[in-house]
Amino acid sequence: MKSIFIQLVWLALPLLLSAQQYYLQPDRVFDGHDMHEGWVVLVEGSRIVAAGPASQVKTTPQARILKFPGGTLLPGLIEGHSHLFLYPYNITDWDTQVLKETDAYRTVRATVHARNTLMAGFTTVRDLGTEGAGYADVALKRAVNEGVVPGPRMVVAGRAIVATGSYGPKGYDDDSEIMLGAEAADGDDLIRVVRDQIGKGADFIKVYADYRWGPRGEDQPSFTLEELKRVNETARSSGRYMVCHAKTAEAIRRAVLAGAETIEHGDYLDEETARLMQQHGVVFFPTLAAVESIQRYRGWRKGHEADPPAVQQKKKSFKIALDAGVTIGMGGDVGVFPHGENVYELELMTEYGMPALEALRAVTSVNARALHMENEIGSIKPGLLADLVVVDGNPLTAISRLRQVKWVMKNGVICRNEAETR
Ligand SMILES: [Zn+2]
Repeated sequence: MKSIFIQLVWLALPLLLSAQQYYLQPDRVFDGHDMHEGWVVLVEGSRIVAAGPASQVKTTPQARILKFPGGTLLPGLIEGHSHLFLYPYNITDWDTQVLKETDAYRTVRATVHARNTLMAGFTTVRDLGTEGAGYADVALKRAVNEGVVPGPRMVVAGRAIVATGSYGPKGYDDDSEIMLGAEAADGDDLIRVVRDQIGKGADFIKVYADYRWGPRGEDQPSFTLEELKRVNETARSSGRYMVCHAKTAEAIRRAVLAGAETIEHGDYLDEETARLMQQHGVVFFPTLAAVESIQRYRGWRKGHEADPPAVQQKKKSFKIALDAGVTIGMGGDVGVFPHGENVYELELMTEYGMPALEALRAVTSVNARALHMENEIGSIKPGLLADLVVVDGNPLTAISRLRQVKWVMKNGVICRNEAETR
């Protein structure tokens, strides 16, 4: 018994002494902030140990040299607003997914969504609620972390919180209790619910500060400023933070004043509220791709027909945010459209007026900061995790190049490999 143990130690010793090294040679490196021609990156184990001009960063005798001719190396991309437990509504509408699909079935699908997301170069996601699948996101996150299924690093909301009476599914006979897509709570009870969600694994608290429950079905604020403050205070004291779904200017205003760190959607953002967001350093996740997708599902033929009002409104609010200098993250509400097509949001961000360089920063360093993970991911510099992606061509000249994923590394492990030449 003892001798077997000693043999195992001897076998493992070289592995313990020298973690795998990779010397990565693309045409250029985007380090999360700027594009650098002729840079190389050295990885050891799960970390980046060096990055810079090839003349300054030398390879080592142990390193495996991987060349990516024509390729751009970037930090692993970060999706700021995903729903891994949803899939496109033109396949199955939201009500049906929430009400008729079991959590088990939805989790099986979510494992495929997670894999597709990782293969598309997105090594981290902030998931904004399971929409009726309880805390299955916490379970999926665990399975990914344990290597049971391939997927991105996950930061999860769990069930999310809505005001009583505001959220869907709606329009069913009141005699039967209909399960909601999130957890309803109000007033003092919000404290208990926030704590309960934290206890069950929520990494942050997502609140719907408004919803389509106005007299004509329009978006109207739901929680009061005081209620949102209570949620924020309770989340903060546990070391977590609050993010708010908010489309109307009034709900955005309340969310920002209550201490929200990010605003999701923001369809009716106005100049005054944008200034408030800018002053408070709140990050905006515009979810442009979700709105365009839903309009397409309703028959809109982009490029052949005029923009529908919802798209016009998105373009308007996005420009207001840009002009006011609001920090804009990348988050598409993916799930409304197919997982793995996350780049769709970046294409629209540039189409709606954001420079490509800013869009690249949004999906890397800006999102890392919004997730409180800037010391681990989102940039290429020594000490950070080796979450890296190589795409064919230069995404600065055409952001759609990000769809041409050739190679993906997460935590120093190669997850996808179509490009390397030795
Ligand atoms: Zn969402």
